[in-house]
Amino acid sequence: MEDLIQKTAEVLTSAKYVVALTGAGISVESGIPPFRGKGGLWEKFDPMEVGHIDSFMKNPARVWKIFMGEMKTILAQAKPNDGHKGLARLEEMGILKTVITQNVDGLHQLAGNTDVIEFHGNFAWLYCMACGKRRRTVDVDLSQIPPRCECGGIFRPDCVFFGEMIPTEALERSQEAASRCDLMLVVGTSAVVQPAAFMPVIARQHGATVIEINPEPTPLTGMTSAFLLQGKAGEIMKKIIARLDETAAAKRRS
Ligand code: NAD
Repeated sequence: MEDLIQKTAEVLTSAKYVVALTGAGISVESGIPPFRGKGGLWEKFDPMEVGHIDSFMKNPARVWKIFMGEMKTILAQAKPNDGHKGLARLEEMGILKTVITQNVDGLHQLAGNTDVIEFHGNFAWLYCMACGKRRRTVDVDLSQIPPRCECGGIFRPDCVFFGEMIPTEALERSQEAASRCDLMLVVGTSAVVQPAAFMPVIARQHGATVIEINPEPTPLTGMTSAFLLQGKAGEIMKKIIARLDETAAAKRRS
């Protein structure tokens, strides 16, 4: 593992344009359960069914009750962990340019990253399906489910349900970043939700090195990614940053 950390630090130092693609796994150490993998929401229900737009349209109260009500409480308490902080530090060092995230938790922005493409929208905002009025999720009373606007319409989160299109701007900007980068860090994604999972493939097709950070292998492992740093995002990112700091300090001394 130490060899791979060293190798990652070296590639990060020599790369000209680094992009990160993140998934639910990077926020696990912040207390937000992922969909798949150990402790994932999948163990309780099928997110593909509950998180599908058809389920929401058919029965918004049910989806709010079993899925999104709980999400509001979890997200309100979550703070960036060493994984998010590491990516923010990489931006501060001038190494990382853009984060493409599948997450809806806003933790990359809270950690300090300034160019974050929210591929699946954000749970911080809701909008009324009848009149379009937008409200911050924290300001909406969830004692009544589903939450309703003054006009009587039902609020939905400003995030992308399964079965919905990715917002055009997010998709186009992500494709552009993926084809432009020479290094893509893929952190905490099972790489099975499309089209997000295709971004590392685009990067690879354009000649970039792809490095994964995940406790488990994914369909990208051994195919698209050069190697997998196997472990938790927070722990691995901390080691990478420490190695970059050591190298920078050694350079200053010499
Ligand atoms: P996923 O749930 O499909 O996969 C999670 C991945 O994270 C797995 O590969 C797992 O091995 C890995 N993982 C678990 N713990 C980790 C850790 N400590 N460090 C690094 N990796 C870890 O997630 P996905 O690929 O992002 O796709 C599912 C969809 O779920 C996304 O579209 C996303 O929008 C949504 N989602 C978002 C959140 C969030 O905003 N935090 C939470 C749950 C689901």
